[in-house]
Amino acid sequence: MKILIDNGHGIETPGKRSPVWPDGSQLFEWKYTREIARRVESELQKQGIDVDRIVKEDTDVSLSERCKRANAIADKVGIKNCLLVSIHNNALDTGRASGWEIHTYLGKSQSDEFATTFWNEAKSILPVGTKMRGDHSDGDPDFDSNFAILRDTKCPAVLTENLFMDNPNDCRYLLSNEGKEAITKIHVQSILKIARK
Ligand SMILES: [Zn+2]
Repeated sequence: MKILIDNGHGIETPGKRSPVWPDGSQLFEWKYTREIARRVESELQKQGIDVDRIVKEDTDVSLSERCKRANAIADKVGIKNCLLVSIHNNALDTGRASGWEIHTYLGKSQSDEFATTFWNEAKSILPVGTKMRGDHSDGDPDFDSNFAILRDTKCPAVLTENLFMDNPNDCRYLLSNEGKEAITKIHVQSILKIARK
């Protein structure tokens, strides 16, 4: 199975950053997700998994270009042998929301099954008390979302929102070594489970 990692936004994408916290720290989503994507890639390679990052630039690569890159690879390896994982940090202007969530495209597909694997791993890896956000109304814990990276890619695709960068507690955890290791581990363990099934 071929794993495609998408690390979301670019250095010049407006917004997509935490406030500057009193200790001077700040999270930039483009930078954070690239660091996680590299860690995930290197861990998976050690495990013999075929993995590629579809955005190697630091700049913002358009969604249509990202989908095009993913689809070109999916066409080559076969769409059933491919999984795209898009890595993000969440934000809501109040800064009061917290927790972890995962999205798939509308309706039922194999992506929902894969998302459930991620959700279960996140639940077991994140510290006790971390909010697991989900929509259980359709019998699974992912949110169904009409996002281009999920809609316009041919292969199964999931998008993880890894805690809220504008929430002080979530953000402190994200920026800690422990937090980075946990976010990496959620992706690595889930992908290993899926790829080795
Ligand atoms: Zn994002």
